[in-house]
Amino acid sequence: MIIVMGLPGAGKSTVLKGLKTDYRILNYGDLMLEIEKEHFGVKDRDDMRKLPIEKQKKAQKMVYEKLAKEHGKVILDTHCSVSTPTGFFPGLPFDYLKLLKVDALVLVTADPKEVAERRATDPTRKRDDDDIFLHDSLNRGYLAAYSAFTGAPAVVIFNRQGKLEEAVAKLQAILI
Ligand code: AMP
Ligand code: MG
Repeated sequence: MIIVMGLPGAGKSTVLKGLKTDYRILNYGDLMLEIEKEHFGVKDRDDMRKLPIEKQKKAQKMVYEKLAKEHGKVILDTHCSVSTPTGFFPGLPFDYLKLLKVDALVLVTADPKEVAERRATDPTRKRDDDDIFLHDSLNRGYLAAYSAFTGAPAVVIFNRQGKLEEAVAKLQAILI
């Protein structure tokens, strides 16, 4: 499994769309939304991170139990950490990370100003107006921790404005 993470608005899903690959791309948020619709009555994916942390944790456990059963070549589109009203919440707690066979940990990142722009111009999402630089800095710390824990390499990909192809090519290069 290759885990691709990044801030909301960094462009993970867009970079993934550009890949030519036989990896199956699974979106963590889709899996979580299915579970939270059923168990907690959540309707919108951008309301998930506002749920009480205990509910997010329950749903997260269910998502990872599903993911642990995945075999073959999978790319997981997820968050390094989730910015909640009560603090940053790790996207890959070690208890769940140890259930997965991780080949690479990829952080897609971008200039905080560009991320803010992308959030402001995406009408399909309710993005937060939080401290993007702080969140991205924390994500780098989480990335290093996940890499040290699993032994999988950490890869940082800059998704610069107007240079989507470069970001796609960097990710394409690590797919085996
Ligand atoms: P996205 O569509 O990629 O922005 O993800 C939608 C939502 O899924 C995020 O805002 C989080 O609430 C949730 N989410 C994504 N990855 C994780 C994760 N690893 N752990 C917990 N929640 C997550
Ligand atoms: Mg996305």
